Amino acid sequence: MDTPSATVPMWKAHLISGYQAFRAGEYRERKDLYERLGQEGQTPKVMLIACCDSRCEPSDIFNAHPGEMFVARNVANIVPPQNMATDFDGLSAALEYAVLELKVEAIVVMGHESCGGVNASLEGVGENPDSYIGRWISILNSARDRVVARTAKEDQSRELEYEGVRESLGNLLSYPYVRERVKDGDIALVGAYFSIIRGVLMFADDKGQFHEIAPVAPTAPIAPTE
Ligand SMILES: [Zn+2]
Repeated sequence: MDTPSATVPMWKAHLISGYQAFRAGEYRERKDLYERLGQEGQTPKVMLIACCDSRCEPSDIFNAHPGEMFVARNVANIVPPQNMATDFDGLSAALEYAVLELKVEAIVVMGHESCGGVNASLEGVGENPDSYIGRWISILNSARDRVVARTAKEDQSRELEYEGVRESLGNLLSYPYVRERVKDGDIALVGAYFSIIRGVLMFADDKGQFHEIAPVAPTAPIAPTE
């Protein structure tokens, strides 16, 4: 068994101590849940598509317990339209599994503030077909062009972070099995956005406009006493 020592690099010692803290805390509290999920399988109701960015951790933001969300992460939380998905596309495989096997009830695409992938798109990285990142980011090219045409320079990052989510929600409908379930009311498609600096979550309405979610539940009215 590996134990931290002077020869263990800092990053590994940190991973190990993090794991040990998890075992002593979260895992102890949820041991039964882990055992049950491991034996009975997962039945998450929500698929969450988020960015790889280390600053927007879905299970932290939604305080989600194990088994609650089926999460797929990629650079800039992009869903490629079906005709741009390659034969070996990880996101499309996760999507297919979530919809056809897990039968999730909602697919949430969550963008975030200060997204490096979105900024790369604005810098023209999506015009470079010679790199994986260039080809991947090129999926945002049309959204980028729309945003640049209508938005002042200083607001383009934020606006493309929003528009990228809208684009991905639209692209989800290019998958027939998603389109069919949305039409039948079996799956909801939802846009979300996380402000890292303010720690604020937003959901998009039906028109694609993002609105902040109150961080604290409203106080329940006190029932009148007799
Ligand atoms: Zn990002």
